[in-house]
Amino acid sequence: MTELSETTQRALAAIDEDATERVLSELIRIPSISGSPEEAAAQRWFEGRMRDAGLETDLWEIPMAETLAHPDFPGSEVTRDRALGLVGAWGDEEGPTLVLNGHIDVVPPGDLAQWSGGDAFSGAVHHGGVYGRGACDMKGGLVANLAAIAAVRRAGIRLRGRVLLESVVGEEDGGLGTFATLQRGYRGDAAIIPEPTEQAIIPACAGALTFRLRMRGRSTHASVRTEGVSALEKFWGVWRSLDELEKRRNAKPDAMFERFPLPYPLSIGTLHAGNWPSSVPDDLVAEGRIGVALGERVEETRAELERAVLAARARDPWLSEHPVDVEWFGGQFASGFIPRDHSLVGLVSDAHASLNDGALPDVHGAPYGSDLRLMVGLGGIPTLHYGPGHVRHAHAPNEHVPLRALHGVVRTLVASIVRFCGHD
Ligand SMILES: [Zn+2]
Repeated sequence: MTELSETTQRALAAIDEDATERVLSELIRIPSISGSPEEAAAQRWFEGRMRDAGLETDLWEIPMAETLAHPDFPGSEVTRDRALGLVGAWGDEEGPTLVLNGHIDVVPPGDLAQWSGGDAFSGAVHHGGVYGRGACDMKGGLVANLAAIAAVRRAGIRLRGRVLLESVVGEEDGGLGTFATLQRGYRGDAAIIPEPTEQAIIPACAGALTFRLRMRGRSTHASVRTEGVSALEKFWGVWRSLDELEKRRNAKPDAMFERFPLPYPLSIGTLHAGNWPSSVPDDLVAEGRIGVALGERVEETRAELERAVLAARARDPWLSEHPVDVEWFGGQFASGFIPRDHSLVGLVSDAHASLNDGALPDVHGAPYGSDLRLMVGLGGIPTLHYGPGHVRHAHAPNEHVPLRALHGVVRTLVASIVRFCGHD
């Protein structure tokens, strides 16, 4: 563990915790659900906060047609007419560039009755936390990025390198914002994305691909159902095949995923069959997601699922004559990782330890897809997640981020910026 330098201590003393909480509350009050007009409104508002902090900003209209048509476009699950990109910069391009990335879009609040007070976008600060949709996933992390840069700058430190603060839309439905930011040419020597990790370091994310299966049966009146063919009964054979595939794919997971009982889940999320209670269903549509293993190419994952669906045919002649149609749609998250012993892991780990009585943070993988795979895979930027809050509270009612964790992450980011970028 490295001692905190005098410069780092000066930057830590310049952190304005009240401002961090205030900005986060206000940002949560803008309901920037993926694909809604408030995504753009939140970007415009946040650009103002970047300027307040002294950053040079680039706010641009993402060229939607061209971006969506790009062969590497990672997919999306909502329709947008427009979207804004936003990057704030501070420092000197001659030295190393550290990227702090965070998404400003949030998922819908769900059943409001399950939120205490019935308000999903209150931004209320109480019980030691900030509450509202996006508090931990990940407006807390995004605001922590800003607060850390603001503190280093306020302390009057002259960085040798540069910090880029990237605020992106469309992370929740595929990664539009980070993809567009890379397309605009923004690169760095390392990147931190403060998704909610409970201040653990996550240098590896499994991927997830969304698929749709269509199957046919033959309809008859239910009173003579044996004369028809139920698409639902035929699906059962396919489902067993998928279940075996999931077991096989999780038999020997990467050591980074030891803590998860099922690192690469294969799950059916929707199932629609038939059109009348007393008819044998002649059609079925099932939609689901399959996890992508570390280091596995998306094409290999797709082929595995398609082979499993074909295997069901061997057990059922009906399926040979009426093949299952497999379609890949929506968010297509590849997996992504940097090695556990990468210097960026060491840097953030050391910064965390020097601020927490020498206690090293946990380092492990995550079973979900994230923008990390775009930063590493397309951008070639070593990237990790380290942020405040628990993923269990993300996408859930009463989402919140604990203040202690929020401010703790700001401190680690401050120390990481000073050490990574260097100073005069
Ligand atoms: Zn997130």
